[in-house]
Amino acid sequence: MDTGTQAVAPVATHCPYCALQCGMMLSETPEGWTVSSRDFPTNKGGLCRKGWTSAELLSAPDRLTTPLIREGGALRPATWDEALDRIAADIRRIQSAHGRDAVGVFGGGGLTNEKAYLLGKFARVALRTANIDYNGRFCMASAAAAGLRAFGIDRGLPFPLEDLPGAEAILIEGSNPAETMPPIMQYFEEQRRRGGKLIVVDPRRTETAKVAHLHLQLTPGTDAALANGLLHVAIQDRLIDRAFIEARTSGFEAVRRVVARWWPDRVERVTGVPERQVREAAHLLGNAATAIVLSGRGPEQQSHGVDNVLAFINLVLALGKAGRAHCGYGCLTGQGNGQGGREHGQKADQLPGYRKIDNAEHRSTIASVWGIAPETLPGPGLSAQELLEAMGGAVKALLVFGSNLVISAPDAGRLAERLERLDLLVVADIFLSETAAMADVVLPIAQWAEEEGTMTNLEGRVLLRRRAKTMPEGVRTDADILSGLADRLGTASPISADPATIFEEVRRASAGGVADYAGITWNRIAEEDGVFWPCPTPEHPGTRRMFAERFGTEDGRARFHPIEYRGAAEQPDGDFPLLLTTGRVLVQYQSRTQTGRVASLVAAEPDSFVEIHPDTARDLRIADGAPMRVATRRGEVVLKARHSRSIRMDTLFVPFHWAGANILTNAALDPISRIPEFKVCSARAEPVLLPPAT
Ligand code: SF4
Repeated sequence: MDTGTQAVAPVATHCPYCALQCGMMLSETPEGWTVSSRDFPTNKGGLCRKGWTSAELLSAPDRLTTPLIREGGALRPATWDEALDRIAADIRRIQSAHGRDAVGVFGGGGLTNEKAYLLGKFARVALRTANIDYNGRFCMASAAAAGLRAFGIDRGLPFPLEDLPGAEAILIEGSNPAETMPPIMQYFEEQRRRGGKLIVVDPRRTETAKVAHLHLQLTPGTDAALANGLLHVAIQDRLIDRAFIEARTSGFEAVRRVVARWWPDRVERVTGVPERQVREAAHLLGNAATAIVLSGRGPEQQSHGVDNVLAFINLVLALGKAGRAHCGYGCLTGQGNGQGGREHGQKADQLPGYRKIDNAEHRSTIASVWGIAPETLPGPGLSAQELLEAMGGAVKALLVFGSNLVISAPDAGRLAERLERLDLLVVADIFLSETAAMADVVLPIAQWAEEEGTMTNLEGRVLLRRRAKTMPEGVRTDADILSGLADRLGTASPISADPATIFEEVRRASAGGVADYAGITWNRIAEEDGVFWPCPTPEHPGTRRMFAERFGTEDGRARFHPIEYRGAAEQPDGDFPLLLTTGRVLVQYQSRTQTGRVASLVAAEPDSFVEIHPDTARDLRIADGAPMRVATRRGEVVLKARHSRSIRMDTLFVPFHWAGANILTNAALDPISRIPEFKVCSARAEPVLLPPAT
C-alpha cells in the first residue's frame, strides 16, 4: 500500500480484543495506522483505551516474520518448508510410536469462526486425534454448561444489548465491565437514567460496583449460597411468578426444598453479605416488572462454577424473568470470539454447529459434510486442563494456536515443567510470547487486520472483520499453515486456506445444528450490522431474542436444578488464612501479548500488583507500594502492594495479565465444565521488607 501523503479510505472493522467486538474504522494515514470511531449498534461509536490504541500492534517492531526452529537449545530462523516439514515429520514419528492421540491441539477463544472450525476439522481429519481443546475452557465454560442444562442452548446473551436499558433491575454477578469492556456501560447508564436499579455482586468494590445502587460484597466462592438466599427471600415474600413456573419450567419443587434452608442470616454467615442487603436485592429483582441477571468469570471460574450459574438461573426462572424482552440470564463473554469459538468444533467434546461428538446422528451429519466415514471421526478428547496435565505423559506433542498458556493456565509453575517434557511444541503467534519462547517450532502468523474472518460477539451476533492491510512478508495465516500441514500429513477431507471458502463450509456444517449459521452470508453481515444465530436460511431474519415461545430443551421447558452449596476447593486455614482472587485491569488484555506492546497502555499500568485492604496490610506490616510476598499451596510470588479499601479484608486480588498470578491459582476443576478454579484459593501475605518499627 502506498503511504505517500494521501490518506487511504478507512476500512470498517472490529476491535482485536474482547467479546464486545466494538466496531471501529481502521485507516492508513501518512502518520501510520489509526483507529477512528464507527457508529456500530453494540458500541455506538465508543471504544475503550485498548481499542483506541490497537492500531499500534500493526507496526510493532518485534513482530515475528520468519518461522523459528529450535536447534542446540536456541531458536534459529528457518524457511516455511523447513518448519512445516519438521512438524509433519515429528507428528508422523510421534503418532506411529505412541498413537494418534499423542498429538494434541490447543486453540483459542480469540480465533475467528473459520479458524476455530478449521482447527477442529484439521485435528479430526488430518491428525485424527481426539485431543483438541481451547483456552475458552478457562473462560466461559461454566456459563455455557449451565445454559445448556437449564435452557437447552448456550448463547452468552440470549437477547441483544439493546434490551439492557429497558430492564427495571439488573444484577451483575462477578463481572466488572466498567474496566473490562467500558463501552457497554452506556447501556447500564441508560438503564439508570430510566429509573432502573443496578445490583453488583463482587468481592471488590470495582468501578462497576461504584455506580450500582446496591453492592453485595460477598466472600469469594460463596456465590451459590447467595443465589439460594435470594431465592429463599423471593419465595418467602411471594415475589416468585407461579404462572411462569407452571407454564414454562420443570423441577421447581426440588429447588424450593433446597433453598428453604437458606434463610438470610445463614446467608450472611456464609457469604458475608448483610441479611438486609440480601432481602433488598431479592425485592429489587422480584418487584421489578423486568429484570436481567448477568454473570462473569467471578462465579464461573470456580470448581463449582456450573452450580453457581445454575443457582442464579434458578432465581431468574422462579421470578419469571425469562423468555421476554428486557428479561433473562446472560453471560458476559470475555474473549473476542469466546462465543463463536465454542460453537464450531475446537472443543474436545464437540463438532460444528454446537453438535456433540458422542452423538451418532451428529457424527454422521458432520462426516457427510467432510466426506468421510463417521467411524473414522475420533471420540471425545481431554478437556483443556486435562490435556495440559497429560503433556509429557500420554500427550507427546502440542500444537498451540491463539493461546499463551504459560501465563494464562492455572498452576503455571508446573505447566512450564510439563511443556518442557513434550517431544514437540509448536506455537503459532504474532509475537514471541512466553509460550512461543519455549517452542520447538514457532510459526509467525497474520494478525486481525491482515486477514478476513467472522467473529461472534457476546450477543450471538456474527460479525465480519475486514482485512485492512496486507500481512508482512514472511508471515502466513493460520488457515494456510493448517492447509500446508494437512497436505504433508495427508487428509481424508480437503483443508482450505481461504476464509470465504471455509465460511461456506461452516454454513453447511452448522446447518440444522443448535448454532445454525446456514442463512448467514458475509454480504448479509455487512448490510445488516451482523446477523444473530440461529439463522437457518437466507430469508430468516436471525434470532435477536431467544426463548420467546419455548426454551431449547426437548420439551421446550427451562429446567430448574437444585444446588447444594459446597464452597471453594480450598478454604482459609492457619497456614493460608486469606483468600486470593484474580481478574483484569482496564488497560490490559489477557496475557498482554498484544496490549503489552502498546506504549501508552504499558505506561498506564506497567507492572502487576497485589490489592490488599489497608487494615489487613497494617496487621501484616505491609506498606503501600512495598514489595510483598503472596504464597499459596502451589508457589509464591513477590509483587508490589496496593492498598485499597475496595477489597474485603480477608481477600487479596492479583491481575492475571502478568506472570505470577497463575503460579498461585488452583487447578481444581469443575466436574462438569472442567474449568479451573482461578477465582478463589487460600493464600498467605507477608512483607518482604519490614518497615521500621514506630
Ligand atoms: Fe471494545 Fe472490548 Fe475492544 Fe475495548 S477491548 S474497544 S470494549 S472490543
